[in-house]
Amino acid sequence: MDNNIKIQFLGGVEEVGRLAMVLEIDNMKYLFEYGMSPGKPPKFPLPHPPVDLVLLTHAHLDHSGMIPWLFSRTDQRILSTELTGLVSNLLHKDTIKIAKSEGYAIPYSTTDIKEAKNSLTPVEPAQKENIGDDHEVRFHSAGHIPGSLMFELVGEKKILFTGDLNIIDTQLVKGTKPVQCDILILEGTYAGRDHPKKREEMEKDLLDKIDEVVKRGGVAVLPAFAVARSQELALILRKAGYNVWFDGMGRKVSKMFLKYQRYLRSADNLKKALDKINFVHSDHGRKLALKAEVIITSSGMMDGGPVLSYMRHLKNDPKSAVLLTGYQVEGSNCRLLVDKGKLDFYGVREKVECEVQYFDFSAHAGHSELIEFAKGCNPEKIVLMHSDNREALVKPLEDIAEIYTPKTGELVEL
Ligand SMILES: [Zn+2]
Ligand SMILES: [Zn+2]
Repeated sequence: MDNNIKIQFLGGVEEVGRLAMVLEIDNMKYLFEYGMSPGKPPKFPLPHPPVDLVLLTHAHLDHSGMIPWLFSRTDQRILSTELTGLVSNLLHKDTIKIAKSEGYAIPYSTTDIKEAKNSLTPVEPAQKENIGDDHEVRFHSAGHIPGSLMFELVGEKKILFTGDLNIIDTQLVKGTKPVQCDILILEGTYAGRDHPKKREEMEKDLLDKIDEVVKRGGVAVLPAFAVARSQELALILRKAGYNVWFDGMGRKVSKMFLKYQRYLRSADNLKKALDKINFVHSDHGRKLALKAEVIITSSGMMDGGPVLSYMRHLKNDPKSAVLLTGYQVEGSNCRLLVDKGKLDFYGVREKVECEVQYFDFSAHAGHSELIEFAKGCNPEKIVLMHSDNREALVKPLEDIAEIYTPKTGELVEL
């Protein structure tokens, strides 16, 4: 038997996007994630070799977006939480819809999406599953979004694959804790950047800013990912008493979250938060929302979705504000807004007069938190992935472990 551990990233290792990693050990091949980078055009990882098992940490498209493609070629078994299965199914269907409307090709069909859904073996945090005679996979909550997991593969060595992780409690989910392991495969979305403030202070800053915008007669637009960020914002706003409207897929996702209360920090709070919000069902609702105080709407990167129709109406209003709360991927519309004060309306760039401000409500561990987490895991080796700034983590971590920074496609023996 070949005891060597070999890994190969098919994408997403030197960037925050399209993550996929093949791990080979004891003649077993595992595929961790199979994501895509949504965008114009979307970007895909390299094709995958035949694998024995697929492990999916969570539903975000940069982790799950290409899962259906596996089924256009062969059947697979996927381990993930049932909630991740449901939410990623929704995102996959939406991906095909968006691709059609924008004229991009997506290499899978609705049949593949259905098969992906049916091939999920639901697993739960704090449980484990035997894989053949040699391996066991243990599941740990990742603290990133509801239902998100980290995978601990236990054979001769313990290997921890983090996916996206967060160690602090947010309104929506509880943070995760380090897991003792020999090899740590660590995400680095926020490598080199610390979250500037405590969560509570950031929440107060956001509410103060909304107050200012509302008092001067403007609308506060909060572009947010349908999955987790929009619910987090609803929770932050729940006691503030504003007239809040919620548009996009976030409503369906909220319902899914409420079905799986065990993954939420407080289902009761989420229920209360959603009860106070108005949901947009139609164009009429959209008109009403424009007269409201706060609009939470997708897409988070502002590359499409209802947010652009709101911005079309509000772009010349200096009293209104766009309050960004997420990571602004290079090349995205929200990055354009932050850097140049402009938005791309389906091919036409226009100046935006609204105030623009960024509030860091990340669902990822910041730089120091990543170091703290890595030290807590006490590994011999650390593989850095899912980051456009891995160098920032090399120095602080090379004292505690051997560091690997593989490139896409490179075969690495651990
Ligand atoms: Zn994520
Ligand atoms: Zn990610």
